[in-house]
Amino acid sequence: MDSANVRWPNSLWAAVTPIGSELPELVGAAEADVIVVGGGFTGLSTALHLREAGVDVAVVEAMEPGWGASGRNNGQVIPTLSRPDPEDIVAKHGAAGERFVTLLRDCASTLFDVARRYQIEAEQEQAGWVQPVHSPGRIKIAERRVQQWSKFGAPVELLSRDEVRKMLGSEAWFGGFWNKTGGHINPLALARGLARVVLEQGCRIYARSPAVSFERRNDRWIVKTEKGEISGRALVMATNVYTGEFSKSLLPDIAHEVMPILSWQMATQPLSEEARKTVIPGRQAMSDTHGELYFARYDARNRLVTGGAGRLWLDRLQRSRGRAFDRARRRAVQSRAGCSGKRSRAAVLGSCADRRAWIAAPARTADVDGLPAARRAGNRLSFIPRAALQKRRRESNPAALAYKDAAAGRRHRRPALAPPLRRPSSPRRGRRFARLP
Ligand SMILES: Cc1cc2nc3c(=O)[nH]c(=O)nc-3n(C[C@H](O)[C@H](O)[C@H](O)COP(=O)(O)OP(=O)(O)OC[C@H]3O[C@@H](n4cnc5c(N)ncnc54)[C@H](O)[C@@H]3O)c2cc1C
Repeated sequence: MDSANVRWPNSLWAAVTPIGSELPELVGAAEADVIVVGGGFTGLSTALHLREAGVDVAVVEAMEPGWGASGRNNGQVIPTLSRPDPEDIVAKHGAAGERFVTLLRDCASTLFDVARRYQIEAEQEQAGWVQPVHSPGRIKIAERRVQQWSKFGAPVELLSRDEVRKMLGSEAWFGGFWNKTGGHINPLALARGLARVVLEQGCRIYARSPAVSFERRNDRWIVKTEKGEISGRALVMATNVYTGEFSKSLLPDIAHEVMPILSWQMATQPLSEEARKTVIPGRQAMSDTHGELYFARYDARNRLVTGGAGRLWLDRLQRSRGRAFDRARRRAVQSRAGCSGKRSRAAVLGSCADRRAWIAAPARTADVDGLPAARRAGNRLSFIPRAALQKRRRESNPAALAYKDAAAGRRHRRPALAPPLRRPSSPRRGRRFARLP
């Protein structure tokens, strides 16, 4: 297979990012000090940092660098973890925890520094990262974060409701946490840029070469691919959730631990400068305090790239996609100014009853080559009333709805083909529901 035949996911990043370096496959026998399997951020960054320390590294990638999560994500550069705060990490892991907290504190600046130092053009903007708080009670999360991260020397601030409103152009949030070192980047351009630098520094990258197995032989690690094998003193597995994707026998215990969760992203058409000034005018990256967080950032062409809705497999892609759009429409960064109020299919922004949300028409294939999925999700869903949207979802996926109801302890609604269930007027012993004739 040559690189032209690698199938990339339909994404904004795959559509707008210049292609990467031409790479060979692993054919025959090769050797290196360290073998890294997987060419995402983890594998490429490991290779680069080892190379900076003088080590000879070879990366073995099943497809192309950035083909996995690294080339598909929202590109938010976030200098914190979603759940544990620094004191929790240190309390649990002691000295190792302290080292990890320092790494976390500086991770955004490290990333932007690497990009600057090696002249990686990845549309990066160190505009800061903000975590707005979605309910009044959760302001405690922001307060705790600010207090703890300040103690560890991070440049963080607590934002009032008014400050968040000005920063994001929305009244939907109740305050927030703000770290100036964060920002956003085109993640696929970053992965391809890192791959270029790794090559320039003298490492090798073998693409389209899925590792099918590895073994220990005479104090060396041997990694086998379909057409070749490579031996090394040390081995780094950086295969992420794709560990079982290309070879079931590579690391079955780890592959078995992966739980598939869908997350859907969409991009608006480029916003007009007038509208853009009212929605995240400072161009920060934002992701809120929802467990299933809502996030948004601009790309270099003023498309707002948003999404969310991490869902289990049961919900299926269609549902995840609809939900992500719905949230973007209801919750988000909005502005009264810039809302046209016209329900035109071509509108980028529309008005909304509570003036808290904006309506965004996801980019169409005509605007961005390679985005058919966004088009399908896009204009068709754009202006559907919420009730109709819910009805459509119910009809399209009754099993998911039944699961949700059962989980919430409510009456179990059966898929459409089963007769309806109704609570009897006088419940009979041992039977909670009577079946209607
Ligand atoms: C929708 C979404 C949005 C996200 N948003 C953000 C965000 O805004 N900010 C953030 O910090 N993080 C975000 N993340 C998380 C982030 O993308 C991942 O944590 C990160 O990319 C993981 O990088 P990785 O190198 O470990 O894995 P990957 O990028 O997945 O790389 C693994 C690589 O291993 C290769 N591989 C697998 N098996 C083999 C094999 N047998 N042989 C050879 N190669 C193999 C794959 O082809 C792949 O290229 C998001 C993730 C998703 C899915």
